[in-house]
Amino acid sequence: MSSDHSHLPSETELRAKALESLLVEKGLVKPEALDAIIETYQDKVGPQNGAHLVALAWTDADFRRRLLADASEAAAEMGYFGRQGEHLKAVENTPEVHNLVVCTLCSCYPWTVLGLPPVWYKSAPYRSRAVSEPRAVLAEFGTELPGEVGIRVWDSTSEMRYLVVPMRPVGTEGWSVERLQGLVTRNAMIGVEQALPPERLAP
Ligand code: FE
Repeated sequence: MSSDHSHLPSETELRAKALESLLVEKGLVKPEALDAIIETYQDKVGPQNGAHLVALAWTDADFRRRLLADASEAAAEMGYFGRQGEHLKAVENTPEVHNLVVCTLCSCYPWTVLGLPPVWYKSAPYRSRAVSEPRAVLAEFGTELPGEVGIRVWDSTSEMRYLVVPMRPVGTEGWSVERLQGLVTRNAMIGVEQALPPERLAP
């Protein structure tokens, strides 16, 4: 996808940097505390959490029911809660409907289950085109859906964030949750791609 981001730091990044320097200089914030927050969202909280929930839903009908009924609750049950994790809704792909998530206004995203949003998710072209021409956007991600499959686009807000539960790939019968988890990519949980086919997983 095209991107309107340049290699220069954005104004937001520069402002954030300036604020950080000032807060540290005034002794209001410890750099270690900031690093810990960033590390949490870069390394500890990430798409592996969402992938775990999806793989559980694929293998445990009871958990799937709970996840679809109240994703915030089901995620918290597995220990995934925190900032930007409230009001989480799981939307399930079926042979009839494919779900796609966007935030048309800014970059609302379910941090606790997917980590930080990718740059393209925050880009102006994705935010507008996911709504106006979702099929074309999906095609650019290499996702070709049969014409009869409907696309449902979910516009995220600070009040409601979405997790796509992709369809379980065929040929994965009897797989463990841990193994299945490897097929559930971040992009599949945003809805721009499908879960990986089993042959894509290294033995
Ligand atoms: Fe937003």
